[in-house]
Amino acid sequence: MTIIEMLPNVAKDMEPINGRALLDELGKIGVTILVRKKVHEVTPEGVVVIDMEPGKNRRSFLTTHFGHGLRSDQALYQSLEGKVEGLYLAGDCNQPGTIFEAVRDSFLIGYHI
Ligand SMILES: Cc1cc2nc3c(=O)[nH]c(=O)nc-3n(C[C@H](O)[C@H](O)[C@H](O)COP(=O)(O)OP(=O)(O)OC[C@H]3O[C@@H](n4cnc5c(N)ncnc54)[C@H](O)[C@@H]3O)c2cc1C
Repeated sequence: MTIIEMLPNVAKDMEPINGRALLDELGKIGVTILVRKKVHEVTPEGVVVIDMEPGKNRRSFLTTHFGHGLRSDQALYQSLEGKVEGLYLAGDCNQPGTIFEAVRDSFLIGYHI
């Protein structure tokens, strides 16, 4: 299995000891991690990956696992904006993060109401 990541590193938002342990475990089971690579195309034969560093070639993989970043979805908030009072954004719809951040933001909003 191959993990493809556009950023220069993976698990960078994890607590360092947990991140290191996760990468060690993935290494033990033979997972390859490629950084600075971009999924270009998914074909029946596999996934075509582009190296994000200029001048390097594209590569293909037969079996690939790829993750992508998260983006907030504020459609519900926007559809209610101006129609209801006391409308707040909290958690991932405000900014994708962790459970801790979602609970903290929600607590602070509730606290200030
Ligand atoms: C694969 C994955 C792994 C993760 N692992 C971790 C982890 O290990 N530790 C950690 O801290 N965080 C982790 N996170 C992040 C964490 O899940 C989120 O930060 C957290 O769930 C955000 O909480 P939330 O209440 O803002 O959103 P959500 O948990 O997404 O809850 C939003 C809810 O609103 C509902 N909803 C959406 N639209 C509507 C609508 N129109 N009407 C009614 N209901 C609606 C959805 O169905 C959902 O139940 C992970 C996220 C992912 C995707």
